[in-house]
Amino acid sequence: MEERNVIIIGSGPAGLTAAVYTARANLKPLVIEGYQAGGQLMITSEIENFPGFKEGVTGPELMADMRAQAERFGAEFITADASKVELAGDIKKVWIEDDVYASKTIIISTGASANYLGLDSESRLKGRGVSACATCDGFFFQNRTICVVGGGDSAMEEATFLTRFAKKVYLIHRRDQFRASKIMEKRAADNPKIEFIMNTIIEEVLGEDRVTGVRLKNRETGKVTDLPLEGMFLAIGHTPNTDLFTGQLETDDTGYIVTSSEKGRQSATSEAGVFACGDVQDPHYRQAITAAGSGCMAALDAEHYIEALEG
Ligand code: NAP
Repeated sequence: MEERNVIIIGSGPAGLTAAVYTARANLKPLVIEGYQAGGQLMITSEIENFPGFKEGVTGPELMADMRAQAERFGAEFITADASKVELAGDIKKVWIEDDVYASKTIIISTGASANYLGLDSESRLKGRGVSACATCDGFFFQNRTICVVGGGDSAMEEATFLTRFAKKVYLIHRRDQFRASKIMEKRAADNPKIEFIMNTIIEEVLGEDRVTGVRLKNRETGKVTDLPLEGMFLAIGHTPNTDLFTGQLETDDTGYIVTSSEKGRQSATSEAGVFACGDVQDPHYRQAITAAGSGCMAALDAEHYIEALEG
């Protein structure tokens, strides 16, 4: 079995940046890009905050360009999902069904997935008024009425952020108490554009081609009402895509891969030779540019690790 220098699992901005860097370092990376290659940016609209694109760029365009850039320097791609990994020891192994690949290092960039409510109407209207990224899509709701679903810090932050664009933001929460910190809650409560709707769940997202409203059910009274609006933002948490690594790497109590410690390690995980970058290890920033930056860090860390192996 051929032993590779670097296998990168995942192909969002973190994985592709790691691919560009390791390819330019002549490490001939193999990128297992997944069947849903490109990550979360593939479902985002225009990206206006990625430095260097003064007119903006679409998520799919940016990902295609990053991929082509990595290929230009010799990165190889497999369009499939990794099905199993063995991360311990000097030689790591990655399976794609029955095929097995061996490598000195692994860079994990499998990302995180935004949580959705799980309604059929919600998935049908994704990208048509339903969004899980206020930073990405808020701009498109100038002077509109929208809602944010959730009761944590993200919901407060996103609702407050969205008042820059929207004329009215309903914050819909399923309980009568928020999980958010008091300071974030107060900031939202003090904002005249934000109205809290408590004890309420969303039964259905209304609209054929675009969101026209949400059907609400009050959990105390059982009363069902339709609320007209043009956008629904989910802020009910993210889940890191770590199923593949269960039991093999240290994660925090919410499942994110731990990449920093008192030892000052950067992208290194708890397993020597395994590095992680992007949203799979970042519950906080979750931006394309921070993911790309951490992909660069993982590539440099992998390169130094290989250099040290070769003595
Ligand atoms: P979170 O704290 O887990 O809150 C998720 C919220 O979504 C909760 O209020 C939860 O309701 C609600 N929720 C979950 N599933 C739901 C469902 N199926 N239907 C309806 N509601 C649902 O997540 P987060 O707000 O994304 O925050 C994640 C972490 O990042 C936290 O540690 C937070 O402090 C941090 N953060 C910090 C900042 C900041 O300091 N600037 C900003 C954003 C996030 P329940 O309350 O009923 O469970």
